[in-house]
Amino acid sequence: MDIRVLGCHGSQLPGYNATSFLLDGTIMIDGGTITSVLSMEEQININSILVTHAHLDHVRDIMLLVDNFYYCKKEYPAISVIGTRGVIDALRAHLFNDIIWPDFSQIPTPENPVLEFEVVQPGVKFQLNNLTINAVLVNHTVETVGYVIESEGCSVIFVGDTGPTEEIWKVARKQENLRAIFIEASFPDSLNTIANVTGHLTPSGLERELAKLGVLAPHVYLYHMKPQYEKTIKEEVSLIGNRYIRILSEGEVIRIK
Ligand SMILES: [Zn+2]
Ligand SMILES: [Zn+2]
Repeated sequence: MDIRVLGCHGSQLPGYNATSFLLDGTIMIDGGTITSVLSMEEQININSILVTHAHLDHVRDIMLLVDNFYYCKKEYPAISVIGTRGVIDALRAHLFNDIIWPDFSQIPTPENPVLEFEVVQPGVKFQLNNLTINAVLVNHTVETVGYVIESEGCSVIFVGDTGPTEEIWKVARKQENLRAIFIEASFPDSLNTIANVTGHLTPSGLERELAKLGVLAPHVYLYHMKPQYEKTIKEEVSLIGNRYIRILSEGEVIRIK
């Protein structure tokens, strides 16, 4: 599995993009950054978007992507926007509501739309292309899931925006061949209070979460850093011992095998 980092920050500044990962060129995890990075040819290869939650830094480019798709509609099937009930309801009510943006699940016709919403149940595995996927609830300020993705005998977890959480670590401890975890580190330790209020992690909080893996030692890739604090976050993360931890950068590709 190739994981291309389109955006790995918790906000946007020049050179820093909001969160999105592209799996094997066809499946997105979140859609904070798509259309400003991918060519039209790359955009039309996307067939599904797994949405962790409805916050704007994770979904905003989905609106622009489906608009681009609209002009290719004759040749390409609908994009599946996949999430749990609360996430999909929020996208329908607050973004694709014919006010903020057209409801592309009805355009050009309800029978043959540009976009299809697909609701998945937390904890119930489903198939997507050649992947087996499980959405697991985490602890953020709105309904949010992480995605556990199994492919060819190994697995990867995208934890999503979260504060301290439990269920996803239970699932992680049962995974066979857990190769990598993508997890957030939004704020430096000095902003612990704001991290708690907004449902995010600091490096110290991250260390406590990773301890819940027990003896498992997957590679850990960090994202969702607030760009203003990235230098301090890096320094604090470097003090976490006994684990392979790397802070991601836009544009890199992580190969999992
Ligand atoms: Zn976020
Ligand atoms: Zn969020």
